[in-house]
Amino acid sequence: MQKITLDGLVAYLKEQGFVFQGSEIYGGLANAWDYGPLGVELKRNIKDAWWKKFVRENKYNVGLDSAILMNKEVWVASGHIGSFSDPLVDCKKCHSRYRADKLIEDFTHGQITGDGMSNDELTKFINDNKIVCPTCGALDYTSIRQFNLMFKTHMGVIEDAKTEVYLRPETAQGIFVNFKNVQRTTRRKLPFGVGQIGKSFRNEITPGNFIFRTREFEQMELEFFCKPGTEIDWFSYWRNYCMGFLKSIGVDGDKLRFRDHDKKELSFYSNATTDIEFEFPWGFGELWGIASRTNYDLNAHMTHSKESLEYLDPEDNTKYIPYVVEPSVGVERMLLSVLFSAYDEETDQNGQTRTVLRLHPALAPYKVAVLPLIKKNHAEKANEIFELYSSYFQTTYDETANIGKRYRREDAIGTPFCVTVDDNTLAEGTVTVRDRDTMEQISLKIEDVIPYVLGKLKF
Ligand code: ATP
Repeated sequence: MQKITLDGLVAYLKEQGFVFQGSEIYGGLANAWDYGPLGVELKRNIKDAWWKKFVRENKYNVGLDSAILMNKEVWVASGHIGSFSDPLVDCKKCHSRYRADKLIEDFTHGQITGDGMSNDELTKFINDNKIVCPTCGALDYTSIRQFNLMFKTHMGVIEDAKTEVYLRPETAQGIFVNFKNVQRTTRRKLPFGVGQIGKSFRNEITPGNFIFRTREFEQMELEFFCKPGTEIDWFSYWRNYCMGFLKSIGVDGDKLRFRDHDKKELSFYSNATTDIEFEFPWGFGELWGIASRTNYDLNAHMTHSKESLEYLDPEDNTKYIPYVVEPSVGVERMLLSVLFSAYDEETDQNGQTRTVLRLHPALAPYKVAVLPLIKKNHAEKANEIFELYSSYFQTTYDETANIGKRYRREDAIGTPFCVTVDDNTLAEGTVTVRDRDTMEQISLKIEDVIPYVLGKLKF
């Protein structure tokens, strides 16, 4: 059972300094969020964990950081200018706007997604099932029209059609257009993958559910290039790899499921797609999309740019356009599933509620809190210890309030270890290390805490 509602989590994250409303002192900007001192650390740790597992530790893969602004022709070739759109309907009575497919998805509690339905099929489904406007209850919609999700702006001082550029709606295209550069400079043979983390922008019709669907977000994408005919095996490899990764960083396995796309739902270029879904408080939602995309993307860029993106296979001297398997996940959605998995409340022997964020130590904003037992006696030594530890891992220092209160504070923000500095530290060079989850305490030499904590960061 989830221990906290969505509203509860939003309030909690604001209170603790994880996530704030964007532009708050000006009344906010709808659907924009800022990450506070703890949120930025947690987000960075999630990205580092992904990078470690998908780029550094995987022998097939390398990394890339491509520009957000790209030549407009990239988006013509990829099909985004022509068809990166969602089906938009307005309620004629109250003028609320909706994504037609999401109306169906919400109405059927995620049983039917509306993906792959034509506009006529969507309209018929809405009318047959009398899916009324969630705001005013009317069943009186405009006909469906396609709304392009890309943000458009201009490059340079003149604003005309020639200077139009788009904020990228995904990071993937930056990888495709660099396929040859990466292959040539790394002298890689197939199969190999290119990973990238970066901001993406989509002018979503109905953003919401806090950071689940926003207009500015970050993606962690891998494009894995392989020989045609091997892609389904690689698809299953990455499908399992992604699921294994989520569980290893502490996402609750009982709340995760695969949802394989059936024939009707598959994009025309894909021969296998699955979503890893997480059970959020409002129901299951897509966390990670994994798609076998055939050679659609490289082929489109090759045709449009007239540059060859073929690969000469040294094994059998054949030339072909590589096939691609793409696991693509949003940082914010991963963060949300991590938080819903980690949040816990328990009652102690005195009947008091203890809030514990049971984050994997690798993700915790701080690994260690250094706490002098009595400020006037132990603060100087504690400061020295803080300086030592903070060069190895994220460390915080707190000398306010009684020790019990400080422990509770650290539990609530997920700090796995509290290091208390007391008279024994001054006399013998030992500290007390308290474990967040078990609340057990052990005594260690000051310097032995470093390998002890580093050992717990593995996942
Ligand atoms: P949805 O059906 O939820 O709109 P999608 O299928 O369009 O998602 P993809 O294009 O496959 O999403 O993007 C890959 C991943 O990027 C998603 O699985 C999700 O984790 C993340 N993502 C996509 N759109 C958003 C968004 N607006 N806000 C936050 N994360 C997003």
